[in-house]
Amino acid sequence: MFDRLAIIGIGLIGSSIARAAREHGLAQHIAIADASEAHRRQAQELKLGDSVHEDAAEAVRNADLVLLCVPLGANAAVAAHIGAALKQGAIVSDVGSCKQAVIRDVAPHLAPGVHLVPGHPVAGTEHSGPKAGFAALFQNRWCILTPEAGTDAAAVEKMKAFWAAIGSKVEIMEPRHHDLVLAITSHVPHLIAYNIVGTADDLETVTESEVIKYSAGGFRDFTRIAASDPTMWRDVFLNNKEAVLEMLGRFTEDLIALQRAIRWGEGDALFDLFTRTRAIRRAIIDAGQETAAPDFGRSPAAKGDAQS
Ligand code: NAP
Repeated sequence: MFDRLAIIGIGLIGSSIARAAREHGLAQHIAIADASEAHRRQAQELKLGDSVHEDAAEAVRNADLVLLCVPLGANAAVAAHIGAALKQGAIVSDVGSCKQAVIRDVAPHLAPGVHLVPGHPVAGTEHSGPKAGFAALFQNRWCILTPEAGTDAAAVEKMKAFWAAIGSKVEIMEPRHHDLVLAITSHVPHLIAYNIVGTADDLETVTESEVIKYSAGGFRDFTRIAASDPTMWRDVFLNNKEAVLEMLGRFTEDLIALQRAIRWGEGDALFDLFTRTRAIRRAIIDAGQETAAPDFGRSPAAKGDAQS
């Protein structure tokens, strides 16, 4: 599909793409660049690419597809650095969790004739780095592409084909809408998880050992999300501020309504909401986006299923 694929940032997402692209034979040459010496060494040891570079500009030279897989806060500097080295007709894409910020940070550094097709694979884990990646990460997961109006149609088609080839279902979305959707489905849930784990950690009346011992009561599932990479998530909140604040406003209003229902003993209101939310979980399982295995797939028998 591509003669030369350059992946900048060989962490969880970049290394998963490298593994999947190799497995499906999508590039003749995979060039990798990363700012971290340790990660470059691991990329070499794991044979994730054909060449590994310290300088991203060297990796992108002659590349047909350049994928930015760095934290959102690094995109502007990387784009400024590689801009002049990109060949005419190259496609530049990314995997960032917010899309308006990527267009703002990357587009100004691209020459006319270089096609920006921003993307976001809605797939991940709470782990980071080259060792954490795996080729099946994108299987049966959605990848959202957010090209601006007027983007070269052939470049968009090529990116659709690339993600489909590594197992994703692809959707095209307007960047602003993407940021709103992901604010409620991903960004606010992460903030809630970070907050509840922080609150439990700050408690004085309940000890830390009690929190850990009784975590299977619900807390444990928040701790998985709250173990996600601090750099990545700091950048998400700094770069999707407007949409996150809008969704957080709605969330806070609804939380106050629940608080009121508990205070006034409004059992029907609680029961009705919990019935509605249970149906949403069922719909997610039916859509193949979660496992219905007992204990959320943690039992050994269900482990393989849960990893995807
Ligand atoms: P990661 O595992 O931390 O990998 C990022 C890699 O980029 C690290 O090796 C990092 O090195 C390197 N890096 C940082 N700044 C760089 C620079 N200026 N030039 C070259 N390399 C640089 O992160 P990730 O989870 O793969 O996330 C990468 C992107 O994917 C983020 O934009 C995130 O929003 C998006 N995303 C993540 C998930 C997820 O679940 N994790 C899901 C979907 C999308 P250091 O570690 O030394 O900084």
